[in-house]
Amino acid sequence: MSGRVNLKALSREDLFRFILERGLPRFRAEQLLHWVYERYVADISGVTEFSKKLRDDLGAVAYLSCPEVAQRLTSRDGTEKFLFRLEDGETIESVLIPDDKRLTLCISSQAGCAMGCEFCLTGSHGLKRNLQAYEIVDQVLSVNRMIRMTEKGRGVTNIVLMGMGEPLANLDAVAEALRRITGLLGISKRRITLSTSGLAPKLAELASKAPDVNLAVSLNASTDEVRSRIMPVNRKYPLRTLLDACRKFPLGPMRRITFEYVLIGGLNDSESDARRLVGLVKGIRCKINLIPFNPHPGSAFTRPSEERVLAFQKVLVKHDLAALIRESKGQDILAACGQLRAAQP
Ligand code: SF4
Repeated sequence: MSGRVNLKALSREDLFRFILERGLPRFRAEQLLHWVYERYVADISGVTEFSKKLRDDLGAVAYLSCPEVAQRLTSRDGTEKFLFRLEDGETIESVLIPDDKRLTLCISSQAGCAMGCEFCLTGSHGLKRNLQAYEIVDQVLSVNRMIRMTEKGRGVTNIVLMGMGEPLANLDAVAEALRRITGLLGISKRRITLSTSGLAPKLAELASKAPDVNLAVSLNASTDEVRSRIMPVNRKYPLRTLLDACRKFPLGPMRRITFEYVLIGGLNDSESDARRLVGLVKGIRCKINLIPFNPHPGSAFTRPSEERVLAFQKVLVKHDLAALIRESKGQDILAACGQLRAAQP
């Protein structure tokens, strides 16, 4: 690719400038955007609306990035995990979760992650680098391209930023990616959820840079002692700071913050924990997703019994909190929450 410009890496304004500087009319840029974001073309040579000469001329100075699909695994429950290899060889994962009405894609915002959550495979490998906006969007484009080959007409309907990485640690690229996903791919903000481990000071910035996307906060403990143990971010931004930032987070009508709570056997799954959690989220319009821990090879934690999970939920419901038990999908292919790691195939 040396010397050639990746057109997907350009902002909309820079793409138009690039086209005009080559003496081409503006509508060529519009056509390119259409072919990239609505036809999911993988290469300039595939833009058949252009003459062969135009494709060749453009292809000599520019290209469209397209991550290599290094691995595609399908779970017994229909969940699919994609391992993408990026131009510099780094790998990231995306997980496609189908249900009756939706096709949800869980995407990565970083290669690796610096947050070091104890229960997470991604965190145990450290941060490699931030993703560029186009690398975040490319996950959606690539999956849509693959789906179109097999399942005509049905594309990704919902996006969750819950794959590898802490999205708020790469907020500018994430915000630009979300602008493209909503503006060019046409996925509504209401169908996009960003999940953070708790970078409290970044919540206000998120509200201004990517307003109206759904916010999920990974809570996972009812005391600072336990949370700091399993989520190092808590040492810097303890529960009180994080929940104060959540209280100030602007929520539109009918919107709620989702608190995710991974239930780990004997660590954070007691009824006392549940009661403390009720107090912590008081005054915040929210719902709580309870996720029984998915053990992965080498993990030190265990999954709680079903009775303990139900007892925990009962306490929350008794206090009028919306609390759902979420079984992570794709556990047999390590595609479930906290199990992504971009292993080399
Ligand atoms: S749970 Fe999320 S924030 Fe924590 S280490 Fe894993 S990827 Fe990073």
